[in-house]
Amino acid sequence: MAFFPEVVDELMVRSNRCCCLCHSYVGLHIEIHHIVPKAQGGTDDLDNGIPLCFECHAKVEAYNRDHPRGRKYQPAQLKRYRDGWFDMLSDGRVMVVDGHVTPVPAVHLQPASIRSIKPDSIAETSAVLASQIQNGDTENAGYIHDVFLGYRDDFIGPWVRKYFLPCFDWFLQDSIGRNPSIFIAKQGTPLSPILPSCQTALARSRCLVAIWSPSYFQSPWSMRECALMLHRMEQVEDEYPVSLIFPVVVSDGKYFPEFVRGIPQFDCRDFAIPASAFEKTVRYVAFHDNMREWVERVAATIRQAPPWRDAWLDEPVIAIPELAQLQCTLPTL
Ligand SMILES: [Zn+2]
Repeated sequence: MAFFPEVVDELMVRSNRCCCLCHSYVGLHIEIHHIVPKAQGGTDDLDNGIPLCFECHAKVEAYNRDHPRGRKYQPAQLKRYRDGWFDMLSDGRVMVVDGHVTPVPAVHLQPASIRSIKPDSIAETSAVLASQIQNGDTENAGYIHDVFLGYRDDFIGPWVRKYFLPCFDWFLQDSIGRNPSIFIAKQGTPLSPILPSCQTALARSRCLVAIWSPSYFQSPWSMRECALMLHRMEQVEDEYPVSLIFPVVVSDGKYFPEFVRGIPQFDCRDFAIPASAFEKTVRYVAFHDNMREWVERVAATIRQAPPWRDAWLDEPVIAIPELAQLQCTLPTL
């Protein structure tokens, strides 16, 4: 027996078709090695498979028991190499774009508190869902993230990471009484591909926090994340007339598209100073005070989020709704 097709699919997707030992992208030439050999009772299930390139596969298999040289790859080591590589991919520490493995600088990492839930890890997702169902929270069993944070990594990117995010994370934790799960969707260039993991994460998020910089709306994905959330608000507005979008405005907004203008905005124009001197200015104190108040509103939405719907996972909508027709209000504090 070989590995089951669904096991192969899972290993291909989770490894991004890269070798789990040398991390090179192998594409069509990827091979799957039985960590515990079949002859020694190894199974064909997910836990016993590791995607490898031809060279690494040869190294793993080549060890000669009669003339040992060096150190053999032990099954437990192979599993740790594999899981480590899967973690690097699902955490966003590396990306594979057009067959090139690209490290993402550490400064772009999600804070530790939110890395504990990985959207791509099926086992962990199931565990989260199972615990929610166990707690009787079946209505919200589909949510994984509290917040989907969308921003363009341009001039304002360092400010978002250094000042906005830690402060937001801190106050939100205080407000909801637990570690918030924040999915960070950083858009590089306007032509960055729309990643399936981002779409899934948005579908499984309770609300959208979007940093509206001048270039935010140049990204098709940014437009789409706003449009999708507006569409969700339209679907649930009768029962849940809360805003699910929390824009943080960091520029004058002369060029913001019409369809988003009516959404209540958090004005950070005075605070969005991407220089380390920001924390030494009086504005920094005001920023903190304003953040605390605004985060309460986000927390209120997280607590009152509409029941999750399956349909959000493959929402085809691109049409941009008329905001004027939406009866959205800020959640009550
Ligand atoms: Zn390799």
